[in-house]
Formats: sequence, structure tokens, C-alpha cells
Amino acid sequence: MKLDVLVFAAHPDDAELSCSGTIASLIAQGKKVGIVDFTKGEMGTRGTPEIRMDEAKASSKILGLSIRENLCFQDVFFKVDDEHVIKVVEKIRQYQPEIILANAVRDRHPDHGKGAEIVKKALFLSGLKKLETYIEGESQEIWRARNLYHYIQTDWIEPDFVVDITDYWDVKVESIKAFKSQFFDPDGQSADTLISSSRFMDFLEGRAREYGMSIRSDFGEGFTKDRMLGLSDLTSLL
Ligand SMILES: [Zn+2]
Repeated sequence: MKLDVLVFAAHPDDAELSCSGTIASLIAQGKKVGIVDFTKGEMGTRGTPEIRMDEAKASSKILGLSIRENLCFQDVFFKVDDEHVIKVVEKIRQYQPEIILANAVRDRHPDHGKGAEIVKKALFLSGLKKLETYIEGESQEIWRARNLYHYIQTDWIEPDFVVDITDYWDVKVESIKAFKSQFFDPDGQSADTLISSSRFMDFLEGRAREYGMSIRSDFGEGFTKDRMLGLSDLTSLL
């Protein structure tokens, strides 16, 4: 299956927290979007890998994703090395996306910066003819995605552009709330973390409103570019 947009994320919920409004708006335009998570977030304070896989499935349904996969890298300890980069090359060649979205270039969680780096390397390598990769024993075609953008998660980063997600804010919130073990604790038993605190949803809304205000809309998601952006038509900008 060919995708229009492929999103890579170090942990299940990174994509929802950072760019699910954009994903929902792409899908509403009829684009095919998928998410490939690198780890099951098994080192996370709350929840278990099994619970988080179920939650990712529920969120994928809310967003209307075409695919969702997990590469089962080791949470916290995965390295930016050939082995991990090649696994991402295989996914890029398999799904042949025009646009790739990846983790923030730097963030509070060190896996996010590593995730960004792995995808940047894989984007380049996936276009190299002499780098052979296989899927189910079949040799894969090379693929050159047109662009890579990095979403922004916890730490503040000045975006290069902002996507208006005003019409998709409610879907974004719903997709985040699918990760019940991370954001809500009905029994009040497990340890509090930054994202399980009641202040966290307020922070997310504040961030989305701030990025939204910067483009004179209600809610926005910010991205940074990997290389210079080009326009064929000046009027296509808002
Ligand atoms: Zn994360």
C-alpha cells in the first residue's frame, strides 16, 4: 500500500500529542496516512506495552489511519546506528510516502531527538540504489520522499510553519485520550508523571492556541523543516 504521508514516532502517543490534528486534516482531504512507532514505550512509568498497543489501536481508529506498525526498538536504549536506520529505510520503501513526519529535533525525552536523527538518515539512504533491502524476501525499490518535517512535542521550538488544526482540535483531543493509561488514572494508584497531571491538557491547549494565534487561527500545530521550503505558487500560502 502506498501512503501519502508516513509519520514516525519514538513512542506510541508522540504522534498524537504533536501532530494528530494535522493527520486528521490530511485524512479529511482523502490522503492516506500511517504511523510507524519505534518502541512500545515499555520504560514509561505508567501502563504496560500491551495496554499501550491497545491504546494505539484505539487512537488509530479515531484518526482513520491506513496503517499503524511498531518496530519494537528498545525504549530509551535504541541507538542511531545502521541496524535501526535500515529498519526505517525498509518502511519508507514499503509505503513510498511523499511526505514524512518525524519527532522533534530536540526534546525533553532523549528518544525524540534520536528518532528525528534516524529518520533523517533513513530518508537519504532510502534513495540509494546500491543499498539493497528486502521485504518478505523480495528486493525493494528505492524511494525518495519529497519532504521531511519534524513535529514539536514538549520543549518549545520556534516552528518554521504552522498548520491550522482548528477544525480537528476535538479529534486530536479524542485521539490523545485514547491513551488512557498515560493521561488518566481512574484508580489514582499509579505514580503521577508530567503527562498524567491535570495541568498537561491545559499545556497542550495553550501550545496549540499559541501556534494557532501566530497564524491568526484558533488552534495550530508547529513543524520545523529539514531543508528549504519551495512554493510553486505564492498564493498557496494562507
Ligand atoms: Zn515520546
